[in-house]
Amino acid sequence: MMSGFSRSRAAGLLAGAALLTTAACGSGAAETTATGSAQTSASSAKPEVVAAFYPLQWLTEQVGGSDVQLTTLTAPGVEPHDLELGVKQVSDIQNAALTVYIKGVQPAVDDAVAADKSFDAATAVTTLPAGEHAEEEEGHAGEEEHGHEEEIGYDPHIWLDPSRLATVATKLGERLAAADAAHAQAYKDRAAQTAATLGTLDQEFTKGLTTCKAKTLVTAHEAFGYLADRYKLKQVGITLDPETEPSPARLSEVAKIAKAEGVTTIFTEALVSPKVAEVLASQVGAKTAVLDPLESKPSGDYLSAMRDNLKTLQTALGCTA
Ligand SMILES: [Zn+2]
Repeated sequence: MMSGFSRSRAAGLLAGAALLTTAACGSGAAETTATGSAQTSASSAKPEVVAAFYPLQWLTEQVGGSDVQLTTLTAPGVEPHDLELGVKQVSDIQNAALTVYIKGVQPAVDDAVAADKSFDAATAVTTLPAGEHAEEEEGHAGEEEHGHEEEIGYDPHIWLDPSRLATVATKLGERLAAADAAHAQAYKDRAAQTAATLGTLDQEFTKGLTTCKAKTLVTAHEAFGYLADRYKLKQVGITLDPETEPSPARLSEVAKIAKAEGVTTIFTEALVSPKVAEVLASQVGAKTAVLDPLESKPSGDYLSAMRDNLKTLQTALGCTA
């Protein structure tokens, strides 16, 4: 039904619609494409795949290659946690062969996906419990909206551990292979290649962070739990949710920890106001530096942004490797 619809739409449009990518796979290559309302449209032979936000977009690009028609729900520069879906995005999800998301990051997406046509990347890996101070925050301000973690009971920021993301890549290859059997081997091959690339990145982190003087990361929002878990660091997040202002009690608690552990750098991030981190840094005599939680597209890509994060960590934590 879908393909018939897009073909007839395509027939009515001008040939200029051929602006889209060269179709690498056979049958659809000669068809024109519908550009109208759907930025996703291309050859109707390609399965439409929706990625919820940047790291999943990157991963799906690597594994799906030119065999899928990919749409991302969260625009660049938008903090993904509070995304609201428009009518078109809901219909993209409904029409997609697969929606790749992480339950708990974006409640609107969690509500819109159908179980049999979605892949929750968190189900592919061992998850960690939500941030340590989650309960405490919940205790003192019952009426406020809280971080996403509390609703699902685990920390959803799994993409900041390359080794877990490698596992997700493999599983995504299997899901795409099942959704588009004609290209099954290509998905599995690209998944294996992506997992290997992420394995190399994981080794760089392991090597780069073994000889650090400090082990404590004070971060603006508690996004780096998996990175800390994987590389034996300790994360102290100022807030759970980037949209939430920390309480004065939480701030003074973090200041105490930072002083006690000789923290020299408080990490901020591009999409969150650095004000709170700057105040804290001046209180404890530390600097600030940007550590990218990769919730939105970086200037490079996932790999280059993670390598920048590694350099930032090595400087801030006094690592010699
Ligand atoms: Zn987050």
